[in-house]
Amino acid sequence: MANPLTIVKYPQPVLLKKAKPVESVTKDIVHLIPQMEKIMEFHEGIGLAAPQVGDSRQIIIVKGNTQNHAFLNPAILKKSKKQISDEEGCLSLPDIFLKIKRSEEVEVFAQTPKGKAVRIVAKGLAARIFQHEIDHLQGILIIHRANPLKRIWDSLKIYKNKGY
Ligand code: ZN
Repeated sequence: MANPLTIVKYPQPVLLKKAKPVESVTKDIVHLIPQMEKIMEFHEGIGLAAPQVGDSRQIIIVKGNTQNHAFLNPAILKKSKKQISDEEGCLSLPDIFLKIKRSEEVEVFAQTPKGKAVRIVAKGLAARIFQHEIDHLQGILIIHRANPLKRIWDSLKIYKNKGY
């Protein structure tokens, strides 16, 4: 990468493929995590997945109230039936904001960078971040989640905002 703070943008192939599970916490992962946090903060993101920095492994960062949290191999165990539709953006899709339905609450199983297995119950915005980042690890972006007609309409609105 020319600029170490660059985010990989759509349609780079790394964003569209499934990320590989992390088998063990190697030195390069220990190094990668603070680098991902730095990139996320530089771009004022609230979450980041490793494919967005060109690394196809199952690693995500979730911004918390007081600190960032890194998770390896995160998987959704349970989703609440209740879904909330809200506007979402993605650092890999600049200037695109789409209404995405997400479960209001999710239960996530993951490992910490220290190799500890954890179970997290996330609600509201935190639940949305987990769902968005875990989607990234499956090669799924917000443009794939949005209603296709709505997506076309939204892209027209983007052009309108830019003065077309
Ligand atoms: Zn994203």
